[in-house]
Amino acid sequence: MSESDALEWQVVDKIVETPSTHTFVFSTGKKFDFAVGQFVTIGAHLKRPGLNGPEESLVERAYSLASSPARNLVELSIKIEKPLGFVNPALKKADGFAAYFTEQIRIGDKVKIRPEKKRDHFLFKIASGVEKDIAYWSGENGAESARGLIQLMEDKPELDIKLVLFYSNPHLYVSDTDKTINVIYYNWLIEKAKKMENLKVVFALTRDSEIPFSDHPRVAFRKGRFFVDPDGSPEKTLTKYHGSVEGVFNPICGSSGFINGMVQKPDGSLERRKGITQYLTDIEGVRPEKIDREQFYLDHAHT
Ligand SMILES: Cc1cc2nc3c(=O)[nH]c(=O)nc-3n(C[C@H](O)[C@H](O)[C@H](O)COP(=O)(O)OP(=O)(O)OC[C@H]3O[C@@H](n4cnc5c(N)ncnc54)[C@H](O)[C@@H]3O)c2cc1C
Repeated sequence: MSESDALEWQVVDKIVETPSTHTFVFSTGKKFDFAVGQFVTIGAHLKRPGLNGPEESLVERAYSLASSPARNLVELSIKIEKPLGFVNPALKKADGFAAYFTEQIRIGDKVKIRPEKKRDHFLFKIASGVEKDIAYWSGENGAESARGLIQLMEDKPELDIKLVLFYSNPHLYVSDTDKTINVIYYNWLIEKAKKMENLKVVFALTRDSEIPFSDHPRVAFRKGRFFVDPDGSPEKTLTKYHGSVEGVFNPICGSSGFINGMVQKPDGSLERRKGITQYLTDIEGVRPEKIDREQFYLDHAHT
């Protein structure tokens, strides 16, 4: 990032969402103009374990804007993927960002920000008012832009947006013994869905044997993966929970595996399995122009 074209934002709050995710609230000085779905690149000087002890350098990562463009403060939710101290086996030094940023950046600190400049950014069809009937598909890290969209729906009801959020996570809790919620924005989403008639949230808990009971028609829980019926047969998940396919716009956000089934094998080669994109086109007959994607990172194959 060239230091000259970067903006400078100040951290004014840091909110714990889950043990591995924090929402950083920024004051931007002059009002920051952006559209729902856009991301920014953060640059921060971080101390990380190097070859000969700690090394400090400027590290950058992309983060989706997780707040409404109509508000003054800007929020980014940052999930730690690589734990503190993780050493890249090839480089033999730490190459993560999120864990060090979360550990070292405090309220009052300033960070460098570079805005995204693409006109056809994620959700641009929603931002421009072309699409209003939305089924947003999120992996376990991918609901940030949906949070910004929900806040925008609250701020500007006249936009007349209707959203069904399909949100897939392996587990609701951190572990069987630690009942801390591990789904980012979980309670906030339930509260908003109960209040807003134009919002419904469908949680998939893919590896839990017990799922919560829903006491509200706009909050649903399901066991197992989207598009797979509990008996193993294909399921029309969009039709089942949204009610229709025609005219519905489908943004998908998360890892490569969630979006299109792409995973990287230990030898570095890529393997394509099935992701939400293929399920939407093959099972529901959704046309490609009704699908939008934002990939956070490439998944590694575990099996
Ligand atoms: C357009 C865009 C928007 C994004 N928006 C967001 C956002 O809003 N919020 C957010 O949290 N992230 C977002 N990301 C991802 C973000 O840029 C970082 O990659 C993420 O925060 C993880 O940072 P990290 O430093 O922990 O790992 P990174 O150094 O960025 O590495 C990520 C890679 O590490 C792999 N990995 C995960 N766990 C491990 C492990 N234990 N050991 C080894 N490798 C592992 C992952 O598979 C992935 O390929 C976005 C990315 C893009 C491209």
